[in-house]
Amino acid sequence: MIKLNHLDYYRLPWNLTDNSISWLEPTSKCNLYCEGCYRLNEKDGHKSLEQVKEELDIFQKFRKSDGVSIAGGDPLTHPDVIEIVREVKRRGIKPIINTNGLALTKELLIELKKAGVFGFTFHIDSKQGRPQWKDKNELELNELRQKYADMLAEVGGISCAFNSTVYEDTMQYIPGMVKWAQENIDRVHVMVFILYRAVNNKEFDYFVGPQKIDMGSLVYNEDPPSRADIKAEEIVEILRKEDPNFDPCAYLNGSEKPDSFKWLLTGRLGNKKKIYGYVGKKGIEAVQTFYHLLNDTYLAYAPPKDTRKGRLMLLMGLFDKKIRKTFFNYFKNPLNIFRRLYYQSIMIIQPVDILKDGKMNMCDGCPDITVWNGELVWSCRMEEQVAFGRNVQTLPKNRIMN
Ligand code: SF4
Repeated sequence: MIKLNHLDYYRLPWNLTDNSISWLEPTSKCNLYCEGCYRLNEKDGHKSLEQVKEELDIFQKFRKSDGVSIAGGDPLTHPDVIEIVREVKRRGIKPIINTNGLALTKELLIELKKAGVFGFTFHIDSKQGRPQWKDKNELELNELRQKYADMLAEVGGISCAFNSTVYEDTMQYIPGMVKWAQENIDRVHVMVFILYRAVNNKEFDYFVGPQKIDMGSLVYNEDPPSRADIKAEEIVEILRKEDPNFDPCAYLNGSEKPDSFKWLLTGRLGNKKKIYGYVGKKGIEAVQTFYHLLNDTYLAYAPPKDTRKGRLMLLMGLFDKKIRKTFFNYFKNPLNIFRRLYYQSIMIIQPVDILKDGKMNMCDGCPDITVWNGELVWSCRMEEQVAFGRNVQTLPKNRIMN
């Protein structure tokens, strides 16, 4: 596996109190069952509008966020989803809906846009048991991704992202999905790959205080059907086989392991036919810094009208080597001055890793933090709060007992 040096990239400035995004869960109810899901699907899992407002108050008491991911469960199953979007927008925060898309109709999309929705992240992958899409692989699912990308483009002005959980047997399809995203670079703004994780009962014991516990009640306790230790660098290696220039620009490190990549961001510039190059660490630093100077928050999702301004971004070639290279590559053909250049993000997320000594390596500056009992907690481990009232600790099975 290739080894990337984290110091070659920009450390995203996100932290506990000042972050690009926060994670609101108005419901735990869902209309699908995804293999890699972290949340128990509860039939009566809707929170009231009052509860949702209280959670937003807690976010705003503890931290600045440019956007709020309205997630779940599936938020479109919530009867008050339009009101929730309106409330987030009213507070000056970008509402981003994280959904499997199943309940989305054009009519609902128009209503959500009127209420102020800023963007959608559609979770689509082959392990969701989707009716009519059973036994389809990730590439065949591009047809479904296309349907949602086109629906959003038709309504206009809404940011469009797709995420997929990545398993050992689906890693091979990532280049095809990234290629599809390029062919739709005018309407798909972000692709996210979330590397599958599950409880590891073979190597570790789990404790709440001194009490050893059974993790059986947790939804992410499963004997992993495949590897649960895929690393972000492996995905970069796969993508470099297709495009040797593929290179990230920014990252979030692990809370316990500074050189691990928990969020790894790549920014690329191109059009439907060609990727001309990548954004470097200085370019992304300039974007985050200037956005913060102007808005007092770090940028979460760029408005679609700005992702079309790739030519303007080329000016950052003055101080960003990779963008400079992109600039010369682009203007090899002078006629390109009349053509549009788009920006697109590719994010790889590597959730909790348990290190050999049992330490849990989390995303340092967790963007997906949520609220539980008035406190901010990691959304990927909220089931531990629900089952045990706190996060569990881990120890390796082969530890030496005193
Ligand atoms: S720590 Fe967990 S909840 Fe937070 S960003 Fe990482 S995977 Fe998401």
